[in-house]
Parts: sequence; structure tokens; C-alpha cells
Amino acid sequence: INSKLPEVSTTIFTVMSKMANEYDAINLSQGFPNFDVHPKLIDLVTQGMKKGYNQYAPMRGLMSLREIIAEKTNSLYGSKYHPDTEVTVTSGATQAIFTIIAAFIHPGDEVIIFKPAYDSYEPSIKLFGGTIVPVQLSAPDFKVDWQDFAQKITNKTKMVIINTPHNPSGTMLSKEDMLTLEKLLKNTNIVVLSDEVYEHIIFDGQEHQSVAKFPGLAERSFITASFGKTFHTTGWKMGYCLAPKELMTEFRKVHQFNVFCSNHPMQYALAEYLKTAEHYLSLPGFYQQKRDLFLSLIKDSRFTFKPAAGTYFQLLNYTKITDERDVAFAERLTKEHKIASIPVSVFNLNQQDDKVLRFCFAKTDDTLEQAAEILCGI
Ligand code: PMP
Ligand code: GLN
Repeated sequence: INSKLPEVSTTIFTVMSKMANEYDAINLSQGFPNFDVHPKLIDLVTQGMKKGYNQYAPMRGLMSLREIIAEKTNSLYGSKYHPDTEVTVTSGATQAIFTIIAAFIHPGDEVIIFKPAYDSYEPSIKLFGGTIVPVQLSAPDFKVDWQDFAQKITNKTKMVIINTPHNPSGTMLSKEDMLTLEKLLKNTNIVVLSDEVYEHIIFDGQEHQSVAKFPGLAERSFITASFGKTFHTTGWKMGYCLAPKELMTEFRKVHQFNVFCSNHPMQYALAEYLKTAEHYLSLPGFYQQKRDLFLSLIKDSRFTFKPAAGTYFQLLNYTKITDERDVAFAERLTKEHKIASIPVSVFNLNQQDDKVLRFCFAKTDDTLEQAAEILCGI
């Protein structure tokens, strides 16, 4: 077989979750909540099915859902996206990301990404003949060196992918970062893919800096969002993307032949559920309690950390424990200590090993307590 992705194997999320099951370990590797979805949201899906939302949804998404997404974006970021032409409902953020790349990347186009990066970006770019131009961010701060970034812009640069709050580091881009990016991209035709799936999972009273708030960025950007993260439903694979009309028109040309449309009764349910803004506005407090609980329980362990600023991931540095590579240590923790995590080097340029593991704290307090007890004994 003449593989289009010869270097790609099973993702680290599948590998670590499988290992966690095999060794009966607490699974803080793959990012997903282990607590219940709000019963009202489940009832609304059933209601949608009973009301007859059982056939194809409109290609762009149910209008009532697109309308409320546009309202929410306007109220949070002061930016206007037209529900008819600038909002599309997708089957999770991953499908939106893939479709954006498919719609815009020609062979030879360069795409700047920041490493460590969510694992779907690179294979999607390669499938369409794009060239990845990485900018490495390093522990513990993961700050962008904008001079390094600026040097990587060429006349072949077609797209830049940013992700804030950032998986796996839990850091966020600041207003200054966004203004710098806006300035550097001025007078170019570069498209920005802004992966904002953790927009509501932010701590310590910080503000999420969406590209929607920066006109010079918004005019060239796609925003991807995920209901999986926001409503604890990663298995539903529901999300959306936003972009100015000219960009969205190209997106939809591909989207209609990719999935055509997304799950219809779930779109009905999400449109109803979004009417109560508290459902997403309560998320920072909800997850901050979990982050703080987890960190307070492991503060006397030999792991060291900077508290995550956003996302439901916490990086822990283990240099006081061992000098093993992170992949080997993550495997040993799973097999011997019964706790699974994600080694961050798998997302880095040249597998750079910063000796940090990623732990997902989207778990019940009980699970976090059990996990902390193990970590304190290592
Ligand atoms: N981007 C990032 C940064 C993510 O962490 C995830 C979820 N792991 C996604 C995109 C994909 O979201 P979804 O599950 O909605 O496809
Ligand atoms: N986004 C999730 C994470 O970072 C995993 C998604 C997946 O399994 N593909 O853990």
C-alpha cells in the first residue's frame, strides 16, 4: 500500500486509554469527563427525537442552533457572525479542523503550528500536501517567541493554527499575544485557524482572548468550538465553526461532501440548552474547583507544577523523581502505579522531552482523590 500517512500510527489517546484499561489504572490520560451529563440535556435529545428531528439536518446546521451560537458569540466577544452565512454546525471540532484544512491547503502551502500541538493538525495538513512549519513552545511557560514566529512567515505561508486555552500545556494566549499576531499578519493573505474548544474552561478570573475580539484577526479566521468540552459530552462529537462569509462559503463546499450535516436531535437539544447561559458561564468555577482540589492534594508530592490557566489538563514535572523519558515513565506509572497520563513529548518537535506528563482533571472529586493518593506515593 502506498500509504498517504506512512509515519502515522494509533494516537497516544487510544494507546494510553487502552493501557489504562488493561492494567486497571485510573485513567487521567485521554481528555474526557467521567461524571454525568446534565439530565436536562439528555431529556432534550429525547425530546428532539420525539418531536421528529430524526432525518437529515440542514447542511449548515439547525437555524435555531446557529442563531443562539451567533448570539452567544456576540454577547461574549462583541463580534457579529451572521447565523445564515457565518456559522456552521459540525460533528465535533476535529471534523471542523479537518474540513478547514481540506478546503484551504494546496500542495506546497506552508502551515505554521505551535508545538506541542493537538494531534489532529499535522496529519490533516499532510493529507492535502501542506508543509508543516513548527514553532516550538517549551515548559514551563510555553510562551510564544513572536520573533521566531515572524521569521517563519514566507510567501508560501497559507495558514496559522493557534489554540487557546492550549492543549496540552493549559496556558493561554494574552491580549498582547493576539495584538502581536494581528500586527504580524497584517497585509498578508494568511488564514488563521483558531482552535478555541476550551474557551469556557478558564481560571483565576482571566479572560479568554478569542480571535473574534480582534478585527484584524477575525476577518481572516476560523474559530472552532466543541460542545464535547463545554457540556461534558465528548462522545457526542458535536461542535461548530465561525468565519466571515467568504471563508465559510469555501468551508461549506467541503463540509457538504464530508459529513453533509451533523446529528439532528442533538442540534435541537443544544439549541434549547444554550438558552440558559449559566450552563456554560458556570464552567470556569466548576473546573477551577477540580483543578484546585487536585493541586492541593498533590502539593506535597515530588511532582512540581504551574497551575493550568485553562483547559482541563494539568502538566506535572517529574524531574525530582526520575530522569526517565516521559513515554517510559508514563508507561511505568500506568503499569506499576495504576495511573495513566499523557507524555507531552509525543506532541513536540523532534520528541523534545521536557519531563512533563499531562493529567486530565475532568473527573469526579473521588477519582481525583484516589489519583492524588497514588501520585503522593511516587
Ligand atoms: N482541539 C483540541 C485542542 C482538543 O483538545 C480537542 C479534543 N481533544 C479537539 C480539538 C477536538 O474536539 P472534538 O472532540 O469536538 O472533535
Ligand atoms: N482531545 C482529547 C485529549 O486531548 C482526546 C481526543 C481524542 O482522543 N482524539 O485528550
